[in-house]
Amino acid sequence: MNKVLYISSEAYPLIKTGGLADVAGSLPIALQKNAQDVRLLLPAYPEVLRNINKSKIRTVSSYYSQPVNIIETRLPGSKVIVWLVDCPAAFNRPGGPYTDGHGQIWDDNAFRFAIFCHAAVDIALNKLQLDWQPDVVHCNDWQTGLVPALLHLQPQRPATIFTIHNMAYQGIFDQQTFFDLHLPVELWHMDGLEFHNQLSFIKGGLAYADKITTVSPHYATEILSPEFGYGLDGLLRSRIKNLSGIINGIDDKHWNPGTDEHLKQKYNRRSLDKKLLNKTDLQQELTLAVDASIPMIGMVSRLVEQKGLDIILLALSSLLTHPIQLVILGTGETHYELQLAEWAQNYPDHLKIIIGYNESLAHRIEAASDMYLMPSTFEPCGLNQLYSLRYGNLPIVTHVGGLADTVTDANQENIANGTANGFVLEEQSAAALLASIEQALVLYQQPKIWRQLQINAMSGDFSWQTSAERYIELYQQALE
Ligand code: ADP
Repeated sequence: MNKVLYISSEAYPLIKTGGLADVAGSLPIALQKNAQDVRLLLPAYPEVLRNINKSKIRTVSSYYSQPVNIIETRLPGSKVIVWLVDCPAAFNRPGGPYTDGHGQIWDDNAFRFAIFCHAAVDIALNKLQLDWQPDVVHCNDWQTGLVPALLHLQPQRPATIFTIHNMAYQGIFDQQTFFDLHLPVELWHMDGLEFHNQLSFIKGGLAYADKITTVSPHYATEILSPEFGYGLDGLLRSRIKNLSGIINGIDDKHWNPGTDEHLKQKYNRRSLDKKLLNKTDLQQELTLAVDASIPMIGMVSRLVEQKGLDIILLALSSLLTHPIQLVILGTGETHYELQLAEWAQNYPDHLKIIIGYNESLAHRIEAASDMYLMPSTFEPCGLNQLYSLRYGNLPIVTHVGGLADTVTDANQENIANGTANGFVLEEQSAAALLASIEQALVLYQQPKIWRQLQINAMSGDFSWQTSAERYIELYQQALE
């Protein structure tokens, strides 16, 4: 049994802004089921403190003259122990984990997550009297990047794993911040935390972790190229022997159409006809024409460039002439929100935009839709295409990252050999997007083929079990 300290800046259901939370809320549980002794370390944001029911204060420390408690609780619905880094100066404020209520990035994020990392390092070295020392420290994304760097300087330390969930977010700050944080000077160089004269948190993970993973095999190869590497492809190429891709699983307890409490009508592979009731229910709710035969295309997403919003907007004028209902739930960059809202106003019968974050509606859109739109410019793993497959809602995707690893195009050959489960764009363009949607609409009119595609999609194995086994193998390698 390994003792694993799993460090994340968010974890569902305590606090979530995106896919990282889904992973951090389910992988530790899967690891525990596979005989790993896991502790999850999270910042104690107000929302987290509101979401826990029982807790006790374990230990008290201080970093940068700020008092820090470690609060112990459990991940709701599981036996996984959660330690919360409770530093009021860093985390007790209204707003999100990374931004204020207006979406503005907190200007002291370096300080906030440096505190988080220092606490993690002290726990890793058993300096906080928690009577538990990890064999493996598993870090996630830039917010945890200082941990492998600081541990690297220790003669006796646990093995370190750094998982990249998204290379686009790197935690870059000016050089003065490096000095203000009193980080060890031996970490300031080109092969360390320095990135073009700036401080890069993510480089702490990429340069110093014993093993680096990312969340799909395809993305693991893409980030070695300048196009997807954001200036860090060279460093990653130098670490290629220690870099691998492990696809995310999905949390079967929350994302299962057979048991999903959010749905009007539960269904599974054998009762797919019942799925339609979810569509007519949503049509009613959104004041769309109530007709089960109208193809519904769903999308639940952060509204940012990464998610392919530009080609979607370019395709809308042609797309909305088709007899479809397009339903988009999301929040993000204001210009996308405004443009989509305007299109929805002009095409009320064909397009519904719901601006906001709504977990229940996200589930209902997955169950109601026939197709799912995810033409991302890059996608480290992507969870929504996995949820869509699980819900028999065929994804329309670009051939990037985890989308390329999980979606197989419904061309003649793949339909014949039984592997087709969605639609893959030939390139990242509005024309290719339209072509794929039109291909989907043609097949939608052939119920026997469509049903087979849905069954192929729903039969995929996206359980956490397989991925958890891969991580445990990797922990073993890192320890050796
Ligand atoms: P990313 O992490 O890049 O945002 P993923 O597809 O990996 O994309 O994961 C996104 C997660 O966030 C999914 O669980 C998705 O359902 C959820 N999500 C995104 N936007 C919303 C929203 N507006 N309302 C509810 N859930 C959302």
